[in-house]
Amino acid sequence: RNQGLGSWPARRARSTPDSIATVHRGRTRTYGELCGRVHALANGLHGRGLGRGDRIAYLGPNHPALLETLFAAGVLGAVFVPLNTRLATDELAFVLDESGAGVLVHDRRHTDTARALRERFPRLKLVAVADDAALADGFEALIAAAPAEPRDEPVAAEDTALILYTSGTTGRPKGARISHGNAVWNALNVVVDVDLTSTEVTLLNAPLFHSATLGMTCLPTLLKGGTVVLAETFDVEATFDLIEQRRITLAFGVPTMFDALSRSPRWSEADLSSLRFLLCGGAPVPEELIRRYSERGLAFMQGYGMTEASPGVLLLSAADSTDRIGYAGKPAFFSDVRLERTDGTVPAVGEPGEVLVAGPNVVDGYWRRPAETADSFTEDGWFRSGDVATVDEDGFHRIVDRIKDMFVSGGENVYPAEVEAVLHEHSAVADAAVVGVPDPTWGEVGKAVVVVHPGGRADTTELGEFLAERLGKYKVPRSIGLVDELPRGATGKVDKAALRREHT
Ligand code: ATP
Ligand code: MG
Repeated sequence: RNQGLGSWPARRARSTPDSIATVHRGRTRTYGELCGRVHALANGLHGRGLGRGDRIAYLGPNHPALLETLFAAGVLGAVFVPLNTRLATDELAFVLDESGAGVLVHDRRHTDTARALRERFPRLKLVAVADDAALADGFEALIAAAPAEPRDEPVAAEDTALILYTSGTTGRPKGARISHGNAVWNALNVVVDVDLTSTEVTLLNAPLFHSATLGMTCLPTLLKGGTVVLAETFDVEATFDLIEQRRITLAFGVPTMFDALSRSPRWSEADLSSLRFLLCGGAPVPEELIRRYSERGLAFMQGYGMTEASPGVLLLSAADSTDRIGYAGKPAFFSDVRLERTDGTVPAVGEPGEVLVAGPNVVDGYWRRPAETADSFTEDGWFRSGDVATVDEDGFHRIVDRIKDMFVSGGENVYPAEVEAVLHEHSAVADAAVVGVPDPTWGEVGKAVVVVHPGGRADTTELGEFLAERLGKYKVPRSIGLVDELPRGATGKVDKAALRREHT
């Protein structure tokens, strides 16, 4: 019996065959159709020698084919490996090599990259996604040629469903080994905490190869039998069009996406009446953004998580979002969080400690990384997030920063995220990052790197005074540099290691 993700299309086709599962570029497919395609694809891939435990990689932007490949892998008991399209060919080669993928399903725009990768791994089979059954070796041809008869391979909750690579913010990306059970329990957390229904129409315009988009919106919507509307990239105009035309009920994004929407000329006129949930993750939502949305009658739910938790860990409800600015919330229903000081003890209320996470959504390790797995879990199975947080009397958590970004200046801990948040309060600041750099007197001191809004006015002396009025002296960066752009990694996070290299 298939107890994993691969069984979802057939289960949905059994209960709600005529509901719309996916919408992409105006084409809709029902759960009945999704089920037929997924089983044909599974049969086609099986015919090419793929089966239980084999890794099936996918390279491309949001597209129904990505979801069909994920489910087809689940039908076979194979492992789905979504690749980040922003990685360079060498980085992709590393992931393909480590995961040992036998097939690469790729978008047509990535044909050259796919061919370059096959030169390095001659055994790699390529399948090109194009809406064209005539394309030999193509995704549609594979589906058209194979029987849609359901396959029923035994798949257990403990079997690996996905290898999802972390963002690589603190080092080489690690493949989180997400089991079917992990993904299902995370989806259940979201259904329970966000209160999803079968009438959800969810906009997917952030990349599905990130655990946040896949785990916090896509899979929970499909579990409930709602509709996912796929957009290949985030575009302000297209987002307003889709919200209005498709009557989107749930939108997910990072703060910069919601910020861009609210700065558009269409913001005040757009019909946003269908939106029930705005889910925002990856960083705290700035107060100003919360205010702009609440003027339009909209409130954010905020989330904190990580790839290793499939990914939901903390959630702040829409009601709490307006009262508890800067908080990340309370643990997801089936998950638990505890804080630990460096000496292993529990910090007092309001005092910082590392976030440890446990629950049925938390992976049991990384793919082929025994040393990193051993370092990241306590003996009793709690995952060490590497993030520092505080918790208040009511159980609300606030993420302080990453342990690796923290530095010590004159014996005092400085959390760059706190300084960055103050810089963001300055109206001229578009982007900012702070790193610790060596200093003969203080051990380390802060160095701020700031991007000013186009047309904004700020000089470094004034920014320094702005910070000095709001922060303790040891937290105020000793120097501030203005730049056009911050260095970012493949998932859009600021590359602090690169900044430290550049500025020391
Ligand atoms: P790597 O583990 O490879 O260094 P990464 O940790 O950035 O990269 P992800 O799993 O994509 O990879 O990101 C999870 C991290 O993102 C968390 O550990 C945390 O540092 C940060 N994060 C996520 N949500 C929030 C939030 N709401 N507020 C602050 N930080 C957040
Ligand atoms: Mg991490």
